[in-house]
Parts: sequence; structure tokens; C-alpha cells
Amino acid sequence: MSIAVDDHAPATVEVHDVHKWYGAHRVLNGVDLTVRPGEVTVILGPSGSGKSTLLRVINHLEKPEIGHVSLNGEPIGVRRHGTRLKELGERAILAQRGRIGFVFQNFNLFPHLTVLDNVAAAPVATRRLAKPAALELARDLLARVGLADKAGAYPRQLSGGQQQRVAIARALALRPGVILFDEPTSALDPELVGEVLAVIKDLATSGTTLVIVTHEIGFAREIADRVVFMDGGRIVEQGPPSEVLDAPRHERTRDFLSKVL
Ligand code: ADP
Ligand code: MG
Repeated sequence: MSIAVDDHAPATVEVHDVHKWYGAHRVLNGVDLTVRPGEVTVILGPSGSGKSTLLRVINHLEKPEIGHVSLNGEPIGVRRHGTRLKELGERAILAQRGRIGFVFQNFNLFPHLTVLDNVAAAPVATRRLAKPAALELARDLLARVGLADKAGAYPRQLSGGQQQRVAIARALALRPGVILFDEPTSALDPELVGEVLAVIKDLATSGTTLVIVTHEIGFAREIADRVVFMDGGRIVEQGPPSEVLDAPRHERTRDFLSKVL
């Protein structure tokens, strides 16, 4: 459980009536989701239910056909002109995306860069920091994820769990307002899952706003303020873990939980 959810501050992420389709294939069918500052949201649901697409819409990697997403009260991908909305250009979208961290299932580190440079690259590329300051920040973040001694290594020299911890440090380097995790431990050997979950738990308890897609139900129970169950491109139910995980109201949620627990 995170410590400091503020119910009165503007939502960190607000997803409003989002619909997404590819041709005739409807992937998101009217999703509403509010993530408050400091809140930890865990998204569960069967394969194909639209979880990754929802994260990609939040990060503006996909544009919804209907609906919109706001970050700290500001619409993503568009700018208000009085009552009209105007689409933003690529640069403005990149700037918005820099306020959202994204951690992928398969780490997606730059193979040709050292661990230190992987973490320092984005603050330098976006000109948020000069190189020496970025390297100092990167060292601090590597220490935070327990990898201070791997700064000079290349990704291929690390275990999957270590690579994912580097990816988390990299996501933190832009000091994002929220970090999205898409099945961060699914590609890991079982013995490496714990070290990655421990790092995510450290972020959760220190007040970082997190949205995590995972099948780790025990972990969800431990850290989530809110559990969201998706099926068929819709949110079927959401609430605290004590409700959604321990006393689900919907048959589909019960059925899913009986398969993954
Ligand atoms: P989940 O992460 O819950 O497994 P996804 O969001 O990845 O689900 O996918 C939901 C559905 O959307 C799946 O049926 C998938 O095949 C489809 N889908 C996702 N991305 C695309 C795409 N770029 N083009 C066509 N269909 C897609
Ligand atoms: Mg997915």
C-alpha cells in the first residue's frame, strides 16, 4: 500500500471513455480510469483483454478512436484552444511522453550502451541535464536499484532481473509523474522475479505513482491501492485488493482469479 494517496489533487492520469479499434477489431470499448497522485494501480486480465493497449494509449504510443487521456489535468496529444482541441505535433508529444515512464516486458535496453549510459541517455537526449549531471543521477539511480557495481557492464552481461532493474532506473531518470509497467516480470526466470518486484515495491512505498500490468496476484494484494480487472476491452470491476481479489463481484473476475491463483 502506498502512503500518500491524495484524493483532492488533480488526477495524475485520467482515461476518459477510451475506445480503440483496429479495423473491425474492437480492442478497448469505453475505458474510464482515474489514477491519483501516489496511487498504485494494478491491472489484471486475461491475454488479449486490452491491458497493453490501454498502457500504450496512456503513453500516447496509440491514439484512441474515441475518448481522451489527461496527465495532471492536461490532455495528452491535444491542446485546448478555448473550447476546441488542436492536435499536438510530434515534439510536444515527445515532451509529454517524457513525463511518463514505461517499463516493458522485454527490458528494451540499448545493447550497444553501458548500463550507466542506458540510464543517462534520455536526460541528455531531451536536454534535461548536461552529461555530467546525467551521469551522476544515473549512478544514484543504479544504486537505488542495487546495481551500483554494474555501471560499466553491457546489458548482455546481466541477468534478466538485473536488466529489468536497469530499465526501471532508466524510467526513473526523467523523473516521471507516473511509471507504467507492462508485465515487468513475465519474461524472467522464476528465481529472478523477486528482485524486480522488490524494486517496484520500494517505488510504491516511497510514493511514486505506478500503473502495473501483472499476473502476480500476491504482489498485487501487497502493494495495490486499487486493482482493476479487464476483460474484452472493458473494465469489469475495480476497487481495493480486499474487494476485487478477495471478494470479486463478477463471475468473470472469479473465473480469472481461479485460473491464475
Ligand atoms: P493484453 O495486453 O491484455 O494481452 P493487448 O492490448 O495486447 O492485450 O491486445 C488486445 C487485442 O488487440 C488483442 O486481440 C490483440 O491481438 C489486438 N491488437 C493489439 N495491437 C494490435 C495492432 N497493432 N493491430 C491489430 N490488433 C492489435
Ligand atoms: Mg499485454
